[in-house]
Amino acid sequence: MMAQYLEIKAAHPGSILFYRMGDFYEMFFDDAVAASSALDIALTKRGKHDGADIPMCGVPVHAAEGYFLTLIRKGFRVAVCEQLESPEEAKKRGYKSVVKRDVVRLVTPGTLTEDSLLNARQNNFLAAFGRVRDESALAWVDISTGEVRVAACPTIRLLPEVARIGPSELLVADAHLEEIETILAETDVSLTPLAASSFDSSGAEKRLTTTYGVASLDAFGGFSRTELAALGALIAYLEITQKGKLPLLRPPLRETPGQVMQIDPATRRSLELTRSMSGARSGSLLGVIDRTVTAGGGRLLEQRVSNPSCDTDLIASRLDALGHMLSNNMVTEDLRQTLRQVPDIDRALGRISLDRAGPRDLAAIRSGLTQAETLSSKPFLMDGPPSVSGLLPTLGGHGALIDLLDAALVAEPPLLARDGGFIASGYDAELDEAQTLRDEGRGVIAGMQSDYADQTGISALKIKHNNVLGYFIETTATHADKMMAPPLSETFIHRQTTANAVRFTTVELSELETKILNAGSRALEIEKRLYSTLTAEILKASGQIGETARSLAELDVITSLTVLSKEGDWCRPLVDGSRAFDITAGRHPVVEAAQRREGGAGFVANDCALAGPDDPSFIWLITGPNMAGKSTFLRQNALIAILAQIGAYVPAQKAHIGIVSSLFSRVGASDDLARGRSTFMVEMVETAAILNQADERSLVILDEIGRGTSTYDGLSIAWATLEHLHDVNKCRALFATHYHEMTALSNRMDGIDNATVAVKEWEGEVIFLYQVQRGAADRSYGVQVAKLAGLPGAVIERARIVLDMLESGERKGVAARETIIDDLPLFSATPPPAPKPAKTSEVEERLESVLPDQLTPMDALALIYELKALKEPSA
Ligand code: ADP
Repeated sequence: MMAQYLEIKAAHPGSILFYRMGDFYEMFFDDAVAASSALDIALTKRGKHDGADIPMCGVPVHAAEGYFLTLIRKGFRVAVCEQLESPEEAKKRGYKSVVKRDVVRLVTPGTLTEDSLLNARQNNFLAAFGRVRDESALAWVDISTGEVRVAACPTIRLLPEVARIGPSELLVADAHLEEIETILAETDVSLTPLAASSFDSSGAEKRLTTTYGVASLDAFGGFSRTELAALGALIAYLEITQKGKLPLLRPPLRETPGQVMQIDPATRRSLELTRSMSGARSGSLLGVIDRTVTAGGGRLLEQRVSNPSCDTDLIASRLDALGHMLSNNMVTEDLRQTLRQVPDIDRALGRISLDRAGPRDLAAIRSGLTQAETLSSKPFLMDGPPSVSGLLPTLGGHGALIDLLDAALVAEPPLLARDGGFIASGYDAELDEAQTLRDEGRGVIAGMQSDYADQTGISALKIKHNNVLGYFIETTATHADKMMAPPLSETFIHRQTTANAVRFTTVELSELETKILNAGSRALEIEKRLYSTLTAEILKASGQIGETARSLAELDVITSLTVLSKEGDWCRPLVDGSRAFDITAGRHPVVEAAQRREGGAGFVANDCALAGPDDPSFIWLITGPNMAGKSTFLRQNALIAILAQIGAYVPAQKAHIGIVSSLFSRVGASDDLARGRSTFMVEMVETAAILNQADERSLVILDEIGRGTSTYDGLSIAWATLEHLHDVNKCRALFATHYHEMTALSNRMDGIDNATVAVKEWEGEVIFLYQVQRGAADRSYGVQVAKLAGLPGAVIERARIVLDMLESGERKGVAARETIIDDLPLFSATPPPAPKPAKTSEVEERLESVLPDQLTPMDALALIYELKALKEPSA
């Protein structure tokens, strides 16, 4: 056995080998050491190898899925090695034969199919990055649903594309591994290097034509060499990991640049499109707008939010669908009632194709298709616009398959095919006969028991069954003598004596037992055979079933967006080829939802009008105190653009949006210590990206640029950035700043307008009104906001004095620094400084030795911990 183990292990060096032994998967040697600590299970030992103990650990087969997932999350791969024959079969080949085993599957992050390992509402993509000379492409597949896509992808677009698609695993050629590791360092995609031959484009063409069973790939549209290389690598890897069994794959769809709104990773993060800052779905835009009731609908909506469209016709047709649904809410609710019963058809189909399914997957197909059939004849859908009625043909037409599955399957089949019991009676005569024999045999046994009781005169006699003896006759010890003496001993053969019972058999009983056993195993055989014919029938129709699943998902997204629009009183946006950005009474969907939950005062709606027909300004410079609602306003407009371009209604009274081809957002200054970059550096890197890329079709959102450095530095950078956006990028932009000095720019530049968020001052306190108005803020109210935050009264007082001095100095035209140094009565308002303690503390000594300029942010954090520790003992 160890020899077999070592041989199989040697063939799968990069993976933890799960070696099947009966009801357990066992791991040995280093695998056992690594797995036992990663899984937190006991490490034992078994036998010796080269004189040393062999470390071993194991997990029960029925619980293995959970362990796969833990290992994968911790960065391991798993090779699953199964027994390919039963121990009995092995014995037939010879007394000492080892059961045949081999690896049947490699479990990797991108190739999961089990429901328990996947998030139902999220696609799990496996991607491949192919590069031929200086061209490159990205291909990606969700093997649990069969979707395949490909797009040209220059290396510099790799990071944003990975952020957009969100694959869990990316295949790269060996030679590119290091380079790509660096590019993707900040993502959590798992990289898998493959030999260059997997990316060979001519081999790829052959692999693809074989996989899709076509003579040439032209049917799917022409693919470039690099696209072929990437697609080919996907297939090559699936062949390796699935050991020859390929999942069902839909024809590859090519995504062309310009089809979808470009959104870079930083913008995705800062706008919290599909994940909130904490990484959860809830609290993100997606989390707030998701009303879908099926897993497929949930996945489609996430794809939409990640890929807002730039196609005005497509957007309009999606909006038409919503309009139609809104015209009759009763019917829409009724449709959703039907959709709620639709199971995850895509994933059931995926498992069936990989031979990893069970009877419940067949039942899922049955009930999904049945619901689809019901929907396919709804008059309300037929009367809809093409984007609705066009779905109907793909929903119906499965009558024959539904009938077959209805006739063949019981209502609620068991999870596993192994134990049978899923084929309905009356479907197969042979099966019925075998089952009757098996079940009747059990009835005959009951009759036999009473016969024997009569014959022996022992009323307590029982016929029982266990796995060791099979069927046997049992009496209490008191009656045993009678049974073992003639004449009874001629019929009853002694088998076993236990503490308080004696067991017998008879020729008649063992013959009957054989019959029952045979009938039972024959019934199982037949069920297994029928299972294969049913799966074959399903796979034959897999293309149409996939279409049906897609239409169901679409219908789910349409009706769920309808419900959302109705709930929130959202409006249909006008999306066209203009450059308008005209929102009346817009709201922030996420902030508003949160406030509604908390029962707050109610969200204040705001207008935004950029680049209108009689409005030359395409940039708004927004000033106003902290906490006044500037960031919220900026983000809400970006989110409204996204919602409009996924084809949803928007939280506003009216919205007119000229297609936004790329969206950039730099919001809030959050420190990025873990990545070892200071806030300011991150801010500048991201600002640079925007200034280099934004064009007339972009929408740019910049919040408090330049905050991370000294006042004059910051002001000058913000100033120059705004000028560049205006003169060079010419993009639509919302620019929030606390530098009031910048409001003067609007006098000089036609494209810039000032706006401010209104506040009221009342008895020295600020009251936020959250109203965005044209014009500049009179001042920043920073001191008042600080007071709200609870800064000590003395500090607030002192700040007021400094501020007054600075402001009067400015009026007199004196530079700020001179004002403070020359005029400010330095010690008038503050208490005298405390006398220095005579002895310097350890903390002070340590501080003496610090050179702030040479500290990285990480060092600084470490230093703070150290100082805290120094202080602790004396405290
Ligand atoms: P700023 O960017 O000006 O510092 P924020 O946009 O972060 O301010 O807003 C601060 C808080 O004010 C938000 O967390 C939100 O709770 C509230 N707020 C912002 N805008 C509105 C609004 N339009 N209506 C109601 N509350 C708002």
